[in-house]
Amino acid sequence: MRYNKDMISVAILGATGMVGQKLIQLLTDHPYFTITELVASKKSSGRAYKDACTWLQNTPIPSDIATMTVKELYSPLKSIPVFSGLDSSVAGDAETHYASMGHTVISNAKNHRMDTGVPLIIPEINPHHADLIATQDFLYQDANKKGCIITNPNCATIVASLALAPLYARFGLESVYITSMQAISGAGYPGVSSMEIIDNVIPYIADEEEKLESEAKKILGSLSKNNTDIIPAPFAMHALCTRVPVIDGHSLHIIVEFSSDSSNTISEEAIIDAWNTFTGTPQVQALPLAPTQPVLYFSQKNRPQPRLDRDRDKGMGICIGRLKPCRRKTEVLPKPSHSTKHYSFFALGHNTIRGAAGAAVLNAELLHHKRLLT
Ligand code: NAP
Repeated sequence: MRYNKDMISVAILGATGMVGQKLIQLLTDHPYFTITELVASKKSSGRAYKDACTWLQNTPIPSDIATMTVKELYSPLKSIPVFSGLDSSVAGDAETHYASMGHTVISNAKNHRMDTGVPLIIPEINPHHADLIATQDFLYQDANKKGCIITNPNCATIVASLALAPLYARFGLESVYITSMQAISGAGYPGVSSMEIIDNVIPYIADEEEKLESEAKKILGSLSKNNTDIIPAPFAMHALCTRVPVIDGHSLHIIVEFSSDSSNTISEEAIIDAWNTFTGTPQVQALPLAPTQPVLYFSQKNRPQPRLDRDRDKGMGICIGRLKPCRRKTEVLPKPSHSTKHYSFFALGHNTIRGAAGAAVLNAELLHHKRLLT
């Protein structure tokens, strides 16, 4: 592992899980951060990481990580930034605890995402929501060490939000309908059993639809005048989430209805241009994990596909394809009269990279850029 005295030491909570393992992969050889503390449950604590964890990544455990002793949750930590890939059953209280102890908690868990004052950030879309951090007021143990919590969205929400943000900004949105096809790694380890998922599609994922319907509206929402809260984006959002036998990569079929005042002018070319030209702070500031092109439209009819496209741009790029206008009720074939207000398309993103660990690392890089990390 590369190290110099200017590197920032970080801890990982939930280091043995799917997101924790991806955090280790992404933070190894990172130019700003070096992993110095690993934390998991009581059953893992006191053990060498390689013995505590069922490592399921396609690269070996970094040698210095393999021998690091896992600490128990609530142990005192030296690192100021603390990444959290904790199970949601424990993340809420544990993250509040570490923020109260003066740590900057960069969380993947659902527990604090919708809290007033907690930013839910995708750095290409709403980096300015980080201003909410100033309003956080935990019961600090030490008044000189003020910690905070910053969160990244649910894995399907990240794919949807990056697909929708360029359209919302350019054309306005009235309503959005989503059907997801989500990978099994999104359920953590051991997740769904092979008997449940092989040769099957499960048309329900607990709590997922509610997250998708609420989180994207917070991300695309605006800061209130006094910067203390988020006013959610006003479009309607309806989601149905399914689990499919794919290892990594969430796919979404999305139907959008554009705002009526712009409905006559929206062409397929304009929509594709909105996606392909979309950039934000991570690209302008050349943050280390920033994808070169956050959203890319594929013109091939059979793309994107999870196996072929989930790793695009370090696994941080969202892939889109199959854009087409929805047919009108009065359409008479063979002379179709398509609506220019309703379109449908297919979107794909890597759920444990762009949708989880990579999102958290990019959030940390954003905080570092904004000088909010120490
Ligand atoms: P996971 O594989 O089940 O890992 C959970 C981690 O939490 C493990 O390190 C586990 O440690 C630890 N943990 C569980 N119970 C604990 C306890 N009582 N005390 C201390 N540590 C405990 O889950 P995951 O998929 O990595 O997800 C982690 C978090 O990220 C979840 O909140 C999830 O909702 C969220 N998330 C996941 C994804 C994804 O695609 N997987 C995407 C976005 C967000 P032990 O190994 O010691 O039990």
